[in-house]
Amino acid sequence: VPELPEVETVRRMLERQVLGRRIRALRRSGAALRGERPDPRLPRRVRGRAVEAVRRHGKYLLIDLEGGLSLLSHLGMSGRWLFVADRRDRAPAHVHARIEFEDGSALWYEDPRRFGLLRGVATAEAHADAALAILGPDPVASRFTGEDLARLGRGARVSAKTFLLDQRRLAGVGNIYASEILHRAGVHPARLATSLSSTEWQRIARELEAVLAEAIARMGTTFSMYRTLWNEPGAYGDQLRVYDRAGEPCRTCGAPIRRVVQQQRSTFYCPSCQARRPLRAAPKPRSTRASTIDASRSRRARLPRR
Ligand SMILES: [Zn+2]
Repeated sequence: VPELPEVETVRRMLERQVLGRRIRALRRSGAALRGERPDPRLPRRVRGRAVEAVRRHGKYLLIDLEGGLSLLSHLGMSGRWLFVADRRDRAPAHVHARIEFEDGSALWYEDPRRFGLLRGVATAEAHADAALAILGPDPVASRFTGEDLARLGRGARVSAKTFLLDQRRLAGVGNIYASEILHRAGVHPARLATSLSSTEWQRIARELEAVLAEAIARMGTTFSMYRTLWNEPGAYGDQLRVYDRAGEPCRTCGAPIRRVVQQQRSTFYCPSCQARRPLRAAPKPRSTRASTIDASRSRRARLPRR
């Protein structure tokens, strides 16, 4: 499933490849994407307009056309944008949109599972579109400090992993990079977001930035469907430290990587590098009473529900 680094890779390639090209025609397969039927007026609206900018927020792409119209797109589970030099090339089976340019090249949107999205929006009102309006800030567009993340996580009665995946708090991180970021930050994925110390938030902020930047530099991670604009796989896969490595040795300590399921999705982590207990910069409190209360509370939390 494409996440921020994969979508940013596509955005950069689109910017290099289609900026300034003028649309001659838009052809749709007629199939619904994410349950939404293609707008029959869109082909007429985009005709003759040149591409002015390609932007991204989280996992969403905006292809801005001249005259205040944008194409909003999301790759869903299996979507790809592919560039072809000759628009007469035969499109594969699951191409649901073909944007043909006046110079003879074309851009295809392919999506076998059709969980993606493609629709026209007024550029000036794009931020208010139902899909974009609910998104939190983008971690590449704005750099987050530990304090910023702690603020975004305020009141989040969810695990650190679930916090990172919540697009309404932070837009762009998905399942692969959430596991990688928490591993590199040394934070156990099941830790409650509200229980994280400021040191831990700082480490998450640092690794969030580093992991996304490294993944973008390698054009993202390909497991099955994701491809770049040139139909190439991403090259970050061999850099993964925990994701999809259950049973294999941790690259730091050698302990076998574990897989758990959180919210129906796999999480990978190292049980020895990723602390169950908060990491604090300051020494632990010496009061025995405080630690006794702590211990009894965590014992109670582990009791099965009746
Ligand atoms: Zn380890």
